[in-house]
Amino acid sequence: MVQRKGVSLSLVDSPEYTNIDKVQSLMQGIFDLGYDKNIDTDVFWQDSALCAETDPDIFFPEKGGSTAPAMSICQQCTVRSECLEYALSHDIRHGIWGGMSDNDRRRASRERRRARQMEA
Ligand code: SF4
Repeated sequence: MVQRKGVSLSLVDSPEYTNIDKVQSLMQGIFDLGYDKNIDTDVFWQDSALCAETDPDIFFPEKGGSTAPAMSICQQCTVRSECLEYALSHDIRHGIWGGMSDNDRRRASRERRRARQMEA
């Protein structure tokens, strides 16, 4: 059984699964890692996720792997800002979300914190 970040891929690789099922399963696996402590039900945007129409694996590249294919899809996605806000607000640390890598998101979070401190 193949495991990736706590997600069993044997089930999601079965032919009965659609890409949206795969993405939702991968997302659920990520949330199961503990990032969902305060998850709300505001995930309407996932219905329009462009990544659901592609290979979800490219959004979780191996260490050192290219993020370009996923980034390219995110650039065309109509729910990019909602996706990015979701990942930032839930401190999701794996995968490409909203056209940003984990490092990009950490940098964005730091900049937001700094900006809030400046306003205070
Ligand atoms: S921005 Fe990227 S990761 Fe987010 S829903 Fe769209 S395609 Fe998927």
